[in-house]
Amino acid sequence: MRRVLGLKEIIIDGFKSFSERTKISFCNGINAIVGPNGCGKSNIVDGFLWCLGQQSAKTLRASSMQDVIFAGSLKRKAHSMAEVTVVLSNENGLLPIEFQEVAITRRLYRDGESEYLINKQAVRLKDIIELLAHTGVGKEAFAVIGQGKVSEVISQSPQDRRTLFEEVAGISHFLIKRKESERKLE
Ligand code: ATP
Repeated sequence: MRRVLGLKEIIIDGFKSFSERTKISFCNGINAIVGPNGCGKSNIVDGFLWCLGQQSAKTLRASSMQDVIFAGSLKRKAHSMAEVTVVLSNENGLLPIEFQEVAITRRLYRDGESEYLINKQAVRLKDIIELLAHTGVGKEAFAVIGQGKVSEVISQSPQDRRTLFEEVAGISHFLIKRKESERKLE
């Protein structure tokens, strides 16, 4: 059986519409979050992507990275920092780290300074990318299928669609290696 990562919790504070620290716990199997249009459901998905290292503001539906920090409302002041923590279960040892539970945190301040942490220890973005490599949860993986993605997949060319299947099947890493070896042989 293919080992998968267990998503335990996401804690969002000052990110997009989440002015108050909000913790969402996930159970095994399918979890659903329901709410009226515009209440912030997609912001949770954005928070997940952002925390795991997404660098494109456009992908996060923001015009600049600072845009993800809570901008204030009629009754609440704007925040000076956004923070999202994603807690993953590592009981099956899929992540190359000696912890049963791994909390990944990303912070961004209005002055542009950012911080990444793994289990409360400051790390580089590179460390997070390396930690998640080959788990199928990296920023280029299709672990997150957002709104509009399904229709995009249907209207793709067969070649582009094949790339998606290869990525999901976890073989693109080997295909890249094969191309590299072929180039060297030439
Ligand atoms: P839909 O049902 O339309 O998909 P949704 O429930 O997924 O909506 P989102 O798109 O996640 O909702 O949330 C949109 C809301 O988040 C908007 O009201 C927007 O003003 C708010 N929002 C986004 N960024 C910020 C920010 N930086 N500060 C405050 N509010 C923000």
